[in-house]
Amino acid sequence: MPVPRVYHTTAIVLSRFELGEADRVLTLLTPHDGKFKAIAKGVRRPKSRIGGAVEPFAELHLVMARGRTFDVITSAAVGEAWLHLRDRLESTATAWYLAELAERAVEERAAAYPVYVLLRRAYQLLDDGMAPDRVARWYEFGLADALGMRPEVERCVECDRVLEPSEGYRWVPALGGVLCDDHLTPPAEQAPLSLAALKLLRAYRRMDIEAIAGLRLPRGVELETEDALRRFMRHMLEREPRSLVFLDEVRSTARVS
Ligand SMILES: [Zn+2]
Repeated sequence: MPVPRVYHTTAIVLSRFELGEADRVLTLLTPHDGKFKAIAKGVRRPKSRIGGAVEPFAELHLVMARGRTFDVITSAAVGEAWLHLRDRLESTATAWYLAELAERAVEERAAAYPVYVLLRRAYQLLDDGMAPDRVARWYEFGLADALGMRPEVERCVECDRVLEPSEGYRWVPALGGVLCDDHLTPPAEQAPLSLAALKLLRAYRRMDIEAIAGLRLPRGVELETEDALRRFMRHMLEREPRSLVFLDEVRSTARVS
């Protein structure tokens, strides 16, 4: 059967860049066709029919035509517009960060349904007003899981022993999680991990985000967990996400004012 020239898809915009006078190239994440680039022609002209619809942080319903280099968006409608997500700069910056992680984690045109579902729910949670850093941690854990790289936080990655509260641990992303104190220092990036941070990592592994959102946690433990999962993402994706610079700037400004 020949591949149809026109098709429909649901999509979330992960990133975009401008092309020529009036066009825009968008990287889309879709439930069934994975990630790919598409062109929105004339989208920057004031009278564009699709201009207002093809924005990030929304679930779009698109009609696409197959093209030689990029598929072309011929019609667009907004399904879910997570408008409240834009109310706080930290939520918006977090939404960009989550999109960048998805973009780096998914191969072009590879099946990525779990990542789509994860990103969609994360945007919904940000829109509902949930703390952006908790949504980000939950999403990082979920993304690692979706890629089959879930961090080990129950047992030692080296000797498979269940970790006891009384011992010391190290967080070693290259080994896949927590290392107990019985081993020599490995020649890989690592950080000491407190029992409180280990417990929080376990909570992210075991509990649903709605339950985690209700936890009262010392700021230091949250920051330690953030550092651990960011290290894990950096290792998994083999680079530092660019959007973190903006996110951290927004957060430091928010905490000073
Ligand atoms: Zn061990």
